[in-house]
Amino acid sequence: MKVDEIHRVMALLREEYASWRTPAVTIVAECERSPFKVLVSCIISLRTKDEVTAAASARMFARADSAERMLKLAEDEIAALIYPAGFYRTKAGQIHGIAHRLVTEFGGNVPDEMEDLLRFRGVGRKTANLVLTLGFGKPGICVDTHVHRICNRLGYVSTRSPEQTEMALRAQLPGEYWIAINDLLVAFGQNHCHPISPRCTTCRIAEFCSRVGVKTSR
Ligand code: SF4
Repeated sequence: MKVDEIHRVMALLREEYASWRTPAVTIVAECERSPFKVLVSCIISLRTKDEVTAAASARMFARADSAERMLKLAEDEIAALIYPAGFYRTKAGQIHGIAHRLVTEFGGNVPDEMEDLLRFRGVGRKTANLVLTLGFGKPGICVDTHVHRICNRLGYVSTRSPEQTEMALRAQLPGEYWIAINDLLVAFGQNHCHPISPRCTTCRIAEFCSRVGVKTSR
């Protein structure tokens, strides 16, 4: 894929987006732009299916929709609310610990700087970027496994890790797509360009794709 073809690719993906399931964390952000909710639902979503994340987030926020309220819950209660999310006990400890630091160090508010977010236990660049983009509307590029895989398949980047992909995208992706690319490629990856056997024969962006590393497809 040539670098300047990104505009056409993003336009085609936007046309297709309406027919795909919306990623769970995006649904949380669309309902209400709450950095706290984006942060917590992103932690719940790691290694967890989207439908489980959506249901667990809804149960969690019905009981505690702020750091102050979350801090009043015991870790066991948080674990029970987010079960069966993957690693729910570990995540319950992380969520409780984050709530404690938010209340004691940040006045109950989620900070809007990458450096501050990365200092929370359980928060990596993917989560921090999602909080900045979906929670605060600030520039950032959230690179998860779908964004990393698809950008490399397209031949738009040539990288070995999501972090390298984020840096490559920061260098060449036009700013107008920084926030949108995660949502579009996560939905595309979940619904069409699957990790194993992507649906290349019916792909709207196939003419732009170098199919790097694709061994089997439909
Ligand atoms: Fe993914 Fe295949 Fe489409 Fe390339 S052509 S983006 S590998 S589905």
